[in-house]
Amino acid sequence: MEIQNGSCLCGSVKYTLSAEPVVTRICWCRDCQYLAANGTVNMIVHSSSLNIEGELSTFTKAAESGNLIERRFCPSCGTHLFGNSSARPQFTVVRVGTLNNPSIVKPTANIWVGSAPNWACLNSELEQIEKQPAAPKPKQS
Ligand SMILES: [Zn+2]
Ligand SMILES: [Zn+2]
Repeated sequence: MEIQNGSCLCGSVKYTLSAEPVVTRICWCRDCQYLAANGTVNMIVHSSSLNIEGELSTFTKAAESGNLIERRFCPSCGTHLFGNSSARPQFTVVRVGTLNNPSIVKPTANIWVGSAPNWACLNSELEQIEKQPAAPKPKQS
C-alpha cells in the first residue's frame, strides 16, 4: 500500500500509515456514539505501521470486557484519532475520518448494532455484528 497520511482537524497531530489496515468497520457502541454523535468508522492497523507526530491527550475507560481502552485525541481541537486496548497493544484503532483520503478504505461490517439507535442507517450489504467481534488474528511471522 502507498503510505497514507492523516491528521486531526487543526493539524497539530499528524500520522502516516505504511501498511494496509487489518479491518475497517463501523462501530455503534455507546462510547463511540458519545464521540461521534453517531457510529464511528474505524480501521484496525498494526501499531508498528503507524507513525504519529504531535502531542495527544488520553482518556482511559474500562470496556465491558474489562480491558482498558485508551482513547487518544488532539488537546487543541478535540479530534479523536486513535484507540488502544490494554489486551492488544499490537493493534491501534484509527478513526477513518482523520485520513486525508477516507475513501481508501471500505467498511465491511457494522459492529455493536445492538446498541445502535433505532434511526441508525445501517447498510444492509455489510455484515452486522450484535456486539464486539473477535479480535483480529496476530500477524503471521
Ligand atoms: Zn488538532
Ligand atoms: Zn465503538
